[in-house]
Amino acid sequence: MSAQDVLVLAETRGDALADVTFELLAAGRELARTTGGQVLAVLLGPGGAAYAPALAAADRIIAVDDPRLAEYSPEPFASALREVVEAEQPRAALIAATSIGWDVAPLLAARLDAPLATGCQAICPDGDGLMVTASFCGGKMTAECRVAASPAILMMLPGSYRPTGETGKGELEQRSPAAPLEPGAIAFEQWIYPEAGDVDITQQDVLIAVGRGIQQQDNVELAEELAQALGGAVCASRPVVDQGWLPATRQVGKSGMTVKPKLYLALGVSGAPEHQEGMKDAELIIAVNTDPKAPIFDVAHYGAEVDVLDLMPALGEAIAARKG
Ligand SMILES: Cc1cc2nc3c(=O)[nH]c(=O)nc-3n(C[C@H](O)[C@H](O)[C@H](O)COP(=O)(O)OP(=O)(O)OC[C@H]3O[C@@H](n4cnc5c(N)ncnc54)[C@H](O)[C@@H]3O)c2cc1C
Repeated sequence: MSAQDVLVLAETRGDALADVTFELLAAGRELARTTGGQVLAVLLGPGGAAYAPALAAADRIIAVDDPRLAEYSPEPFASALREVVEAEQPRAALIAATSIGWDVAPLLAARLDAPLATGCQAICPDGDGLMVTASFCGGKMTAECRVAASPAILMMLPGSYRPTGETGKGELEQRSPAAPLEPGAIAFEQWIYPEAGDVDITQQDVLIAVGRGIQQQDNVELAEELAQALGGAVCASRPVVDQGWLPATRQVGKSGMTVKPKLYLALGVSGAPEHQEGMKDAELIIAVNTDPKAPIFDVAHYGAEVDVLDLMPALGEAIAARKG
């Protein structure tokens, strides 16, 4: 335990650690290097110790086991986490800005009477406190905020740090809550998975994104053909989903999915901040739009000022010809 330590809440998805956990560990390592502290990863739930080998980036892995932590529920999670934070007194607790993070972080901060910063993209020490770069208004504004008190509860935006492969001591400690965890007023009911047969766009290497610029639902078919030819899947901006042209599971952005494919081909997508939030970390972004001032060109590696309705069939034919 040290006031220089950085605590990271590890999240799981199904039976694996969530990708964002590795991003938080990278942020934790960078911060701990400058504070001289250790990185602590906290796993909440029965069987958490099984994930310890994958958390080698941490110096200490604290696995808290209790049946009430089997599925996420705000009250037991906040209570268990509070106990760890109070015992360890880290300089900062990093929690991802995920559905669980948005739920548990404010509750934790309120219970600890600790400062909470949301939308964090970068953190560095500033004297006894921390300097945080935080994003507001869906990414339209950025602010530098000094957080003076410890422990600071920092909600980290997914995609802000890249996992580095750096390792820590990786020592596992298993604990049980000192006091029985109360169930609270909100109880877990069930997981609702995407419709059977639909693709998981977060797992695709190639994504063809369609925006309102594709004009009508019939044209989604052209994008589907392109995706098939390139071995990828079609995703969309929110208006395309709102109009029912594609299911909600295909939406990229603030209120949709965060994706990091190898190729993101944006067709007739303006690139509003809420859309960029979900795709700006794609390895290669190619944007096609008739408006040269479209904001999507600000994040694109390559861009073409072309009508997508001309491009899609022509590109499909060119790919087919190349494949013979
Ligand atoms: C709280 C909140 C959450 C939101 N969450 C999301 C989200 O998760 N995801 C999301 O996408 N949006 C989200 N939005 C909406 C967002 O602000 C934008 O309205 C939306 O992203 C715009 O979608 P679009 O680019 O398809 O449409 P538009 O902004 O209408 O852009 C269409 C683009 O197509 C181009 N175009 C038109 N015709 C052609 C053509 N023939 N060929 C080539 N280009 C053409 C135009 O120049 C234009 O740039 C959210 C908004 C709010 C307030």
